[in-house]
Amino acid sequence: MKVIDGKAAAAALREKFKQDAAGLGARLDVVLVGDNAASTVYVRNKEKACGDVGIVSRVHRLPTATTEAAVVDLVRGLSADREVDGILVQLPLPKGISERVVIEAIAPEKDVDGLTAVNAGRLLLGAQGHVPCTPLGVMHLIETTGVAIAGKRAVVVGRSNLVGKPVAQLLQRADATVTVCHSKTIELAVEIARAEIVVAAIGRPEFVHGDWIRTGAVVIDVGINRLEDGRLVGDVAFDRAAERAGWITPVPGGVGPMTVAMLLSNTLAAARARR
Ligand code: NDP
Repeated sequence: MKVIDGKAAAAALREKFKQDAAGLGARLDVVLVGDNAASTVYVRNKEKACGDVGIVSRVHRLPTATTEAAVVDLVRGLSADREVDGILVQLPLPKGISERVVIEAIAPEKDVDGLTAVNAGRLLLGAQGHVPCTPLGVMHLIETTGVAIAGKRAVVVGRSNLVGKPVAQLLQRADATVTVCHSKTIELAVEIARAEIVVAAIGRPEFVHGDWIRTGAVVIDVGINRLEDGRLVGDVAFDRAAERAGWITPVPGGVGPMTVAMLLSNTLAAARARR
């Protein structure tokens, strides 16, 4: 078994992005509404990552009580602002603000999180567009293993718009035979046992038993779960799964760092397209 080192893969990408960013003057605007502790940390990490590679970032911090109309106005303004290349609205938004309404105010060419209906549709059609960052990171990590995706049986557990659905689309685009599992799936263990590639995006600590993993499979664990004792664990029971898998991502240090790297990648692509 080999551990897929997401930190190292992300660091390698960032070195490349430094060269890509040089002289481009790319700019990412981040909208953060409220004081969700995790969101605050994520936004700080994204700001730092931008600074490290040479992307200008601006964070628009709005109080929890901000109205939906005010957030939409801000996002529309950024969509129209010629200086802005990428717009990211940090989710979740406070109660009472529709994420869908706010996201749809982002101009699709600046939607570096790939969450607008236009970009989701383009992904479905196989057309050019921004693809969500975590799914892009998942694909990059599978590619770093050197295992061919074409023709493989892939199981994606989770069907969210943010992770599961786009991962399934990307795997299908890469010619895998894809099964999408979810909370109503019967015999999840049987589905997973058939898979040569497993992507877990559930949000339940160590939900996927190690014994379910097919020998030699590539296992990508998207889950980030905080246990009561403070430990961070994924959606896959790592130790036992690692005994069976050919390749596996750790949590932390797997998919997480790739998500931020792919945000940089999408922002640079948006900036290049607009120049
Ligand atoms: P969601 O809660 O939106 O989706 C979870 C999915 O898991 C749903 O499709 C749900 O099925 C499915 N599910 C829930 N329970 C079960 C079950 N018992 N058996 C099978 N499937 C089940 O979560 P996200 O997709 O947004 O995120 C998933 C995980 O990934 C979370 O831990 C999140 O923190 C993490 N994450 C990590 C990122 C990173 O950068 N590493 C980025 C984004 C997310 P159903 O549709 O039927 O409800």
